[in-house]
Amino acid sequence: MARVDPQRRQHRRVNRGMRFTVAVIALLSAAVACTSKEPPGSAPPVIVVFVVDSWSARHAGCYGAQGDPTPNADALAARGIRFEQTWAHSSWTLPSFGSLLASVVPTALWEPDSNARLRASLRPFPRVLADAGYDTFACWNSSLLAPRFGLDAGFASEDFDVFPSRNDFTRSADETVRDALAWLDRKPEEQPVLLSLHVFDSHLSYTPLRVTNESGARGDRFERGVPAFDATERDAETKLWIEGLHVDEIRAVDAALGALVAGLEERGRFENALIVVTSAHGEEMFEHGGFGHGHSVYEEQIAVPLIVRLPRDAHAGTNVAELVRHIDVAPTILDLVGIETPDSYQGTSLRAFWAAPTPGNEARTAGSSNAPRVAVAESLIAGPQRKAVRIGDDKLVTDDARRPLELYDLAEDPEERDDRLDRDPETAERLRAALVRWVGTAAEAPSPQFSLADDPDLRDRLDAVAHPGRAR
Ligand SMILES: [Zn+2]
Repeated sequence: MARVDPQRRQHRRVNRGMRFTVAVIALLSAAVACTSKEPPGSAPPVIVVFVVDSWSARHAGCYGAQGDPTPNADALAARGIRFEQTWAHSSWTLPSFGSLLASVVPTALWEPDSNARLRASLRPFPRVLADAGYDTFACWNSSLLAPRFGLDAGFASEDFDVFPSRNDFTRSADETVRDALAWLDRKPEEQPVLLSLHVFDSHLSYTPLRVTNESGARGDRFERGVPAFDATERDAETKLWIEGLHVDEIRAVDAALGALVAGLEERGRFENALIVVTSAHGEEMFEHGGFGHGHSVYEEQIAVPLIVRLPRDAHAGTNVAELVRHIDVAPTILDLVGIETPDSYQGTSLRAFWAAPTPGNEARTAGSSNAPRVAVAESLIAGPQRKAVRIGDDKLVTDDARRPLELYDLAEDPEERDDRLDRDPETAERLRAALVRWVGTAAEAPSPQFSLADDPDLRDRLDAVAHPGRAR
């Protein structure tokens, strides 16, 4: 199967020039070194943020998946910190990736009436790093991350492969890693860098290059010939076959992550590398009747892996059981390299989970350990609008007007089968009030409306996501 058809690729390469500041480099090297048990090395910081599209936590080996699908992610988790419960803020890439970069929930991401243009007042962490002397590279593979949305703010170099929502025509994860390492090879060794990778192999369609699941004899691809998200009755064998193909795509992504680690090691850049691995959102595999993503706020679409590997394997093997959020990633990265967090950030650094309080971070440590984290998921692209809010194990699902719809205790009921709303209205109201504090009421802070009438090209691309059965 031809994975990439060069005729159909839409490649965009931009180089905005390199930023280079010797004094800042020395400062940052020292700051990164402070997070480890070892004395500072000579290598400058390398920050790698590896984001997988469509990868549920339940499909990661180190989160309990059977069949060893992700040996490289598991190995990285063993050398770093694994967050057992992490929420993305939406179940599709555009708002989720925005929240990851800019540390605000989706409601707060976009300029009013802008058709999803990132607010100019927000400072995504790549922008903050660039201003501090980092050279920054976005190596991304989704039309939903195209420059028109502004999520590329702060990247000096960009390499997008934005073929509309077809992973079998999009640059593969291993090619993406190869291109990212080639960019790194063009940089001076003393240059601190941010490599941001987004890989798309695990997105629909399910077309793995290598088929390892036992049902592979039925065919090596699951086309989007029927609407995704549908609740059509499928027999157990068919569901297993589809899931097996999706997991085989995850295996390919994981192999690329292994190649990335090996490539950094070969270049002498791994020891001092801060590596963050997560996914933009999960993927439903019939847990609530359908498959795909973007159409619900249930755990299979919202709960994602999060692994943070610190320089020199500091605090290797740490597990964090508490609920954390994608908005906490940006402040954590900046905290680890000693850069002040912008006031606009809604997340808080996760460093308190492994670092002992020091005179410099006492307040931050106290603040982040005392208040329970409130996690919000919202801004769906398909199906009825839903918002979810979670505090500890309690999770409330509401409609867009904040009307409580379903209440779950995820400790007792991780699959969200036992709706407790009628039995526990007090908890539901407590969660609803917390949700309103974060996203306002409908009248005060409407959900972003993606007005697509003036952008037929984008409308077609989004339509392909929402209605994958459409002929192309
Ligand atoms: Zn996505």
